[in-house]
Amino acid sequence: MKATSDCTMGRTPRRLGIIGAGWAGLAAAVAATQAGMQVSLWEAARHPGGRARTVTLETGLDAPCQLDNGQHILIGAYGRSLRLMQQVGVDPEQMLLRLPLDLRDSQGQGLAFANLPAPWDGLLGVWRASGWTWSQRWALLRHLLRWQMAGFRAPPRQTVAQLCQHLPAALLDGFIEPLCVAALNTPVQQASAQVFLRVLQDSMLGGPGSSNLLIPRVPLGELLAEPAWHWLALQQVRLASGRRVQRLEPLLAADGQSIAGWRVDGRECDAVLLATHSAEALRLLSQLTQEQPALAAPLQDWLHTTAQLAHEPIATVYVRLQGHPPDTSLLPRPMLMLHPTAEHPAQFAFDRQALTGDTGLLALVTSTSRGSRQHLEAQCLQQAAQLLNLPADRLTAVGTVVEKRATFACTAGLARPAMQPLPGLGSLLVCGDYIDGPYPGTLEGAVRSGENAVAAWLQPTPPN
Ligand SMILES: Cc1cc2nc3c(=O)[nH]c(=O)nc-3n(C[C@H](O)[C@H](O)[C@H](O)COP(=O)(O)OP(=O)(O)OC[C@H]3O[C@@H](n4cnc5c(N)ncnc54)[C@H](O)[C@@H]3O)c2cc1C
Repeated sequence: MKATSDCTMGRTPRRLGIIGAGWAGLAAAVAATQAGMQVSLWEAARHPGGRARTVTLETGLDAPCQLDNGQHILIGAYGRSLRLMQQVGVDPEQMLLRLPLDLRDSQGQGLAFANLPAPWDGLLGVWRASGWTWSQRWALLRHLLRWQMAGFRAPPRQTVAQLCQHLPAALLDGFIEPLCVAALNTPVQQASAQVFLRVLQDSMLGGPGSSNLLIPRVPLGELLAEPAWHWLALQQVRLASGRRVQRLEPLLAADGQSIAGWRVDGRECDAVLLATHSAEALRLLSQLTQEQPALAAPLQDWLHTTAQLAHEPIATVYVRLQGHPPDTSLLPRPMLMLHPTAEHPAQFAFDRQALTGDTGLLALVTSTSRGSRQHLEAQCLQQAAQLLNLPADRLTAVGTVVEKRATFACTAGLARPAMQPLPGLGSLLVCGDYIDGPYPGTLEGAVRSGENAVAAWLQPTPPN
């Protein structure tokens, strides 16, 4: 068998099978449907959304609460995600609370961008940053200017800690570290300076509002996954939820050698897009090499690169304050930066009452968390009590979601797997937040990757 087929890059498949309905798979399904392909979409879970989904938790209220598998934030620079929402009928300005970038703590200390066009939003923000000395403000402005003059580029193996080694320690702890954790979900000592600068560049120079924080005002599923699924159903896309694809088989062409298409759990497709998380893509493609030994050598590099990816967890602890009046906020702002310690590990707190109207509810987020769920929950309860200046017995941890493989670790020098796992064979592509691209493991990275895969079938050189 030869790893070649009729369906090459730049040639549109008629029947496309997409495996996985996270943001990458949904973005691809929408783009492919708009391009006139006949799409079949399989999703293993009962509902679409993947790592950005709504979960139902018993929170002690009368009815179970619709919460998120993890509190998410977007930024204004996530243009492809915002456009996709609009395509499926979601108004991002209604569904997301738009705020100037704000990394202040409960005392109001830290950086808050001004509500002005770039670059004045950032410049004035740094100038006014509370709790920073004048020399710290100058140091940050000098660094920002230097990074801009260098085209926001860094050597591939440089870490964020190395990039910022001449910044005062207070800025590293109070600004760079939280920004890096929020954007890359990777500690500064390991995080890629190149990817960090790319996110900084897009948010600072990406046009009006690109540095804004966008925080969901609705459960995550309503932001994209459910409306996209509904949109696809209206376009007669073949949707299968609760169906974990087990098998991918090549279909041989008349020459008995080259691959003419694929069979996905028995259904024939001209091309297949694997839009699962990396572990599942590894499983399906490793199984393929066992059944088709001729594909083992060409797939070897891709499998090896993907198997090398490390992952970072994110834990969200939902804490409820009993008897809090429904019309008052819990926190001074909808999102607060915290100062994590070994005892109080959460990095951010979100006022779900102010954001989504969940009475008395806070979400405490701990990226790269390691301890047990029970221990983390107890710690976050204490941290919330301290934050609200209340005795801990007035608070209850109503739900904790620990996503052990929330994102890939976006480390310096990381080699990420390519979109095309079999060189020379355009009928099998892979997308997802972990696929090679300029973004870290984010919603925007996933959407770009899904759309780029479809664009590769429509045009030989997809946009980045
Ligand atoms: C707790 C948490 C917090 C986060 N916070 C943020 C944030 O604030 N901002 C941000 O931008 N990003 C954040 N992220 C990252 C973001 O959620 C991901 O980057 C994005 O959702 C990845 O989308 P994806 O489509 O690439 O993969 P996934 O969401 O993993 O989608 C893959 C889909 O494939 C399905 N699937 C797997 N195997 C099969 C199979 N065999 N057959 C059929 N279906 C299958 C899965 O069920 C899943 O639905 C966070 C992630 C987590 C977990």
